[in-house]
Amino acid sequence: MEQELVLDKKFDCPICMKEFNSKQVKTGRARFLGTDEDLRPKYSGVDTIKYDVLFCPHCGYAAVSREFNNVTSMQRQVIREGIANKFKGVSHDDDTYSYEDAIYRYKMALLTAMVKPAKLSEASYIALKLSWLYRGAKEEIENSENHNAKLLKAYIMGEKHYCEEAYKGLAKAVQTEYPPICGMDEGTVNYLMSVLAYYNGDYDDAQRYAYMVIGSRTVTSKLKQRQRDFVEKIKAAKNDTE
Ligand SMILES: [Zn+2]
Repeated sequence: MEQELVLDKKFDCPICMKEFNSKQVKTGRARFLGTDEDLRPKYSGVDTIKYDVLFCPHCGYAAVSREFNNVTSMQRQVIREGIANKFKGVSHDDDTYSYEDAIYRYKMALLTAMVKPAKLSEASYIALKLSWLYRGAKEEIENSENHNAKLLKAYIMGEKHYCEEAYKGLAKAVQTEYPPICGMDEGTVNYLMSVLAYYNGDYDDAQRYAYMVIGSRTVTSKLKQRQRDFVEKIKAAKNDTE
């Protein structure tokens, strides 16, 4: 049960200075199952991605946990003017975060990242995680008895939209920022870019990124093998379009 894997923790908001509660996944309790092609992590019993954003219900400030306290006094001022002054406050009473809750929290984190403004890679990674949340929401519907076709379609579109945003943003970020990017080393970023390029139908770039991984001296043999397997998929898709 998801509620047994999460707990409430107290945080101090660095923008409005008020205290708030956020749900967090208990350390070491959820079993790691592996990752999707685009490195989305999967755990048994809980989608941990839902719990990665901290969101202040008083002022609307939100960020991934790692970046939450990383604000300068100048950024604090623009976030107060751009978000907090217009925010009405929200409440949440459930024991867990639904996908809808999580999508809202991530959209607030994306808004914060734009107002701040955060590094392009940081905003793009939030977009990538939003696409993962839409995928999770889609899977939840597919695995339930009650198929809501309209909602399913909306989630599929959400996944596609944020996957495209993430790809476009990260493609620019890798040209201007040095690794680690969003905590990933160069090889991992290039692997991810080859998958995102493929998802966005950009097969030439998908291959270009893939060959950077395969030709690298620092990438692990495990990641290289994963990339080689993925290249077959890219080639097949390319042949289909020619
Ligand atoms: Zn706050």
